[in-house]
Amino acid sequence: MSSATPGPIGATAAELDAADPLAQFRERFELPEGIYLVGNSLGALPKSARTNVNTELDRWSTLGVEGHFTGHLAWKDYHQLLTNQLAAVAGATPAEVVAMNGLTVNLHLLMVSFYQPTAERHKILIESHAFPSDHFAAESQIRQRGFDPHESLVLLTPREGEETLRTTDILAAIAEHGDELALIMLPGVQYYTGQVLPMDDIVKAGHAVGAMVGFDLAHAVGNIELSLHDWDVDFAAWCSYKYLNSGPGGVAGAFVHERHVADQELPKLIGWWGTNPATRFEMATTFDPVPTVESWQLSNAPILSMASLRASLDIIEEAGGVQALRTKSELQIEFFDRRLTETLGDRIDNITPSQMEERGCQFALRVTNGDGKRVFEELEHARVLCDWREPDVIRVAPVPLYNSFADIEQFVQILDGIVR
Ligand SMILES: *Cc1c(COP(=O)(O)O)cnc(C)c1O
Repeated sequence: MSSATPGPIGATAAELDAADPLAQFRERFELPEGIYLVGNSLGALPKSARTNVNTELDRWSTLGVEGHFTGHLAWKDYHQLLTNQLAAVAGATPAEVVAMNGLTVNLHLLMVSFYQPTAERHKILIESHAFPSDHFAAESQIRQRGFDPHESLVLLTPREGEETLRTTDILAAIAEHGDELALIMLPGVQYYTGQVLPMDDIVKAGHAVGAMVGFDLAHAVGNIELSLHDWDVDFAAWCSYKYLNSGPGGVAGAFVHERHVADQELPKLIGWWGTNPATRFEMATTFDPVPTVESWQLSNAPILSMASLRASLDIIEEAGGVQALRTKSELQIEFFDRRLTETLGDRIDNITPSQMEERGCQFALRVTNGDGKRVFEELEHARVLCDWREPDVIRVAPVPLYNSFADIEQFVQILDGIVR
């Protein structure tokens, strides 16, 4: 994880914005009116997404079906235009990443391959506050294989009175269930608290007891630096409409470690987009897997959604990649922490971990007098776009690619006016 040089003590938002090497990237996005601090839910629209999508509409209009085979944007290979950039944000090799489907769909497809329960080893470890879709996916995979979630689904819970998971407790749970543990499936960044989990330690502990380890990176990809290959993660999946700005319902991503991509013993649900492209259109029914994670692809690719994702990945690359984004993000986190403390003191509680390596750009704020819902509604009224998560948290995420330090300062001022 990178660590930024601390900002000048007491620097103002204007000073920090003036010194920000990424400041010009805000102009590349179309932001809704108001203060947009909700890129953790839906990333902003890159202006170039319009160009890329229009290009594909034009190609559809003029080429029709020939668009599948024509030129460097040929739709039959279009997903490969994303591969190198996805590998960069995931810390993966090109053979390990692919854009396909939706996040929950990918979790299911990967669990078909990596959750192989036996009578002795049948448990899946997830967190008790998992995003509901992840919980449902794990639960239904357990039932699908003839096991009972009451026995096979293990829920990791923070200690009484605590919000986030302690590494020692995660590792202890892995050791405790040891021989019975088939799969560990945890988030890279927890969607509610913003906590970054120690992915490399979890992989080591999981492998030490013989379990597979997969991550949901919905809130991690594009937010923090990842090294999925080096950490030896077995599989991962993410959506791209949060920090990768692909637009509503945008195409998701999947990672399978190189150790597994060519393993023909792994069970897999297969489709025509996973078979050798050289013979795919001969319509033979012998599956000849692409020797990469692309063999998990089922259907031909959603081009319009990939076109907008490409726009955003181009911008991220131009900005210097996630490392550069994270360097700015750390300055924004420090600034936000400082201004919240100076301005609101103990009227606001941030349940996100305070250590830099345990957090991404999202803050999970709780109004200490219990009036959170009203405060959130007044924020909405003041055109501050953030989000409310039951039971009592306001999530706010300054995204380094398009949020300024001034956005953070304004948010703090408005919040102070409401909570006062
Ligand atoms: C956003 C998010 C999802 C959403 O799943 P979709 O399949 O994209 O609808 C799932 N899990 C987590 C952890 C998320 O943050």
